[in-house]
Order: sequence, then C-alpha cells, then structure tokens
Amino acid sequence: MAWGLAALLALPALWLLILLLFVGPAWAAWREPVLRHPVLIIESDDWGPGPPGHAEALDRLAACLGRHRDGTGRTPVMTLGLILSLPDSEAIAAAHLATYHARPITDPAYADILAAIQSGIRAGVFAPQLHGMAHYWPATLMAVARRDADVRAWLLAGPGQETETLPSTLQSRWTDAGALPSRPLPETDIAAAVTEEVALYHAVFGAAPAVVVPPTFVWTRAVESAWARQGVSVLMTPGRRCTGRDAQGRPACGPQALRNGQAGEGGIIYLVRDRYFEPVRGHRAVAGLDALAEKTRQGRPCLLETHRFNFTGNGQADALAELEGFLHLSLARYPGLRFVSAAELAAQYRQQGDWISKGFRTRLSAWAARMGQVPRFARLARMTGLGLVLSRLDTRTGAAAT
Ligand SMILES: [Zn+2]
Repeated sequence: MAWGLAALLALPALWLLILLLFVGPAWAAWREPVLRHPVLIIESDDWGPGPPGHAEALDRLAACLGRHRDGTGRTPVMTLGLILSLPDSEAIAAAHLATYHARPITDPAYADILAAIQSGIRAGVFAPQLHGMAHYWPATLMAVARRDADVRAWLLAGPGQETETLPSTLQSRWTDAGALPSRPLPETDIAAAVTEEVALYHAVFGAAPAVVVPPTFVWTRAVESAWARQGVSVLMTPGRRCTGRDAQGRPACGPQALRNGQAGEGGIIYLVRDRYFEPVRGHRAVAGLDALAEKTRQGRPCLLETHRFNFTGNGQADALAELEGFLHLSLARYPGLRFVSAAELAAQYRQQGDWISKGFRTRLSAWAARMGQVPRFARLARMTGLGLVLSRLDTRTGAAAT
C-alpha cells in the first residue's frame, strides 16, 4: 500500500522537480503576454538606396499585399527595414579614399525607390522602420576598402550598389569588425551616429522612427540607449542580444532570452522575430504556415523575417507567387488572423491592449506550448511523461479568437 502510494506520488514529484529546475524560463513564459488573435507581420529588411529596378519590385509587392484583407478589412502590412544611405562613390574617389561621403535616400538617384516606398506607406501595405543610416559602420568600411580590392570596388561602384554583397561581418553597423573579433565603438561616436540617422529618418518620413531593426541583429546597450533617447520606442530582436562578431565572424550573442513586450534600455519595448520567409532560400508558403501555427499556439505574434533580395533578384517572380499563396492560405486557415504593423503590435504590449488575453485557460495553454520550445526542458518533459500533461494543456488552435 505504502509502496503504491509512493509510486503514485513519485512521478508528480519528479515533474515538480523538473519545473523547479526550469523555474526561470517557466516564469518568463508565463509572464510574457498572450495574444488573443493570430497575428502575422512580414518583416522585410534592407530596402532603401539601390538599383533603379527596386522601385518596380516595391510596386509589385504593394500590389500583391493590397489584394488581401483580414477579417477587419485590413491589408497585410510589410514592414520595411530601411537603410537611409549608400556611399557617395564619386565624392569618395575624388577625395582619394581619404574621407567618407554618404549619398542619402533623398538623392535624385533614388527618387523612384523613395516614391514607391512612400506610395506603399500611403496605401497602408508598407510600414517604415529604421534599419540604419547605412548597413555598415562607415569608418570600418573605409579602413577595409583601403586594403581590400573587392571592398574598394564595391565602395566605388555607386550609386546603386547592394549592401548584401559586402562581406557579412562588414554588414554589422554597430561594431568595428575591421578585424576579428570585433571591437566596441566609442559611445560618443554611437550617440552622434544615432542622432544623425534618426534626424534623416524624421526629415524623410515626417516623424522619428517608432521601430528600429539593428543591421545583422548586432547592437549594444549603448546603441539601444541612444535610440531610446532619440524617441525610438520599439526594438526588433532575434530573441537574444548579440553585441559583436567573434573570432570566426559569427554574431557573438548572450544566453539570455528576450521576450515580446519586455522593456529594455530607456523603456524601449522588445519584439521577437525568429522565423523566416525567404523564398529564394527555400522557405515556401507551407513553412510560413507552420511558423504561424506554432506562434499562434504560443499566443505570440508571427513575425517573419525576409529581405529585399527575394523580391529584387532572379527569383522575384517565384517569391511573389509564394507570398501570394502564403497570404491566401493563412487567411483561409485562420479567419481570426490580424494584420498589423510592428509599432501597433508593440503598443498592444505596452498598453496591455484589448489584444492581450486575460483568460487563465488561454494563458495556460500558451504557456504549455511555449514550454515545449525550451530545449532541455522539452526533452526531460518527453522522457518523464510531463510532456503528455503539457500537450493536454496546449489546446489552442488559433482558428478562433479566444
Ligand atoms: Zn539588413
């Protein structure tokens, strides 16, 4: 009898022990607000100065997005992570590479691209976000260009060169990756550069940027503070903080998870974008649907990362068709789906808006789904039967808003 009782209690005691071992992630998963609706945002980076053909690519994207509506009548919103300048190749060549000169997005060479961006914003299908004054740190780019013929050729190839073709490490703006591992930038230089990029964004779009997306997701607390001081209220993250490039050139990231709605430096709010929709790299509509299903079960927004190269290069027709199919399938599977900009979504988190669920059952279900994603916990839960209990709690399909 006593043995039977002990055996009966042993398993729940083991489960409790496992939960206690993971009390940090479990508490964080519980505290992160739960969305009542499935939410989809396509986050498209690197737009801005480029070859003239990008204007038509933007027009085609706007037309594709404009053909769809959610249950409230809203079109899909593609956020555009905007780069605000390229090198002024002529001026740099004239200065014999002694000084850097920028060609801003307001230059006549980019007039058609800027007009296409503005037109999509007016139509409600594009939402501008600050990606950076440049997709590199100019002083580092100049230093490398003086010793590297390929980078020098890129620097002098303006006005429409594409930053995607730069070495990956140089595409990180907020660290000096001229040598690896990268070194931090001086804080005074950071403050000046942030002030400059926010001012230009304000001049072009009529307001300071609400959302910033750090190039290659490398940024430091000093950069974050500077953005907050300049009025930026939302920081897009990959779910962790990466502050530089390691000796192999990989992003150097901390272990701490960042959550949707979490407050950062100066009251900035984090959003998490950790799934992808890059058709050129093989991410098809079905993969997008899988991400939407998973995030919906977790009561989280589905923020899908994509880049302009999908829609401007050789694969653009395929990519557009895939986007079209993905939007169509998403709306068919989730009638309660909501399209929104990242800035509006962040406002829901900040203000505990009406999209945030207060229901215990809904929150418990989302918590169970979230815990299923915690790597070592999920394995232990599977091995001990706790996973079965959690899967019983994870009852949301997202097909209907709760
Ligand atoms: Zn980028």
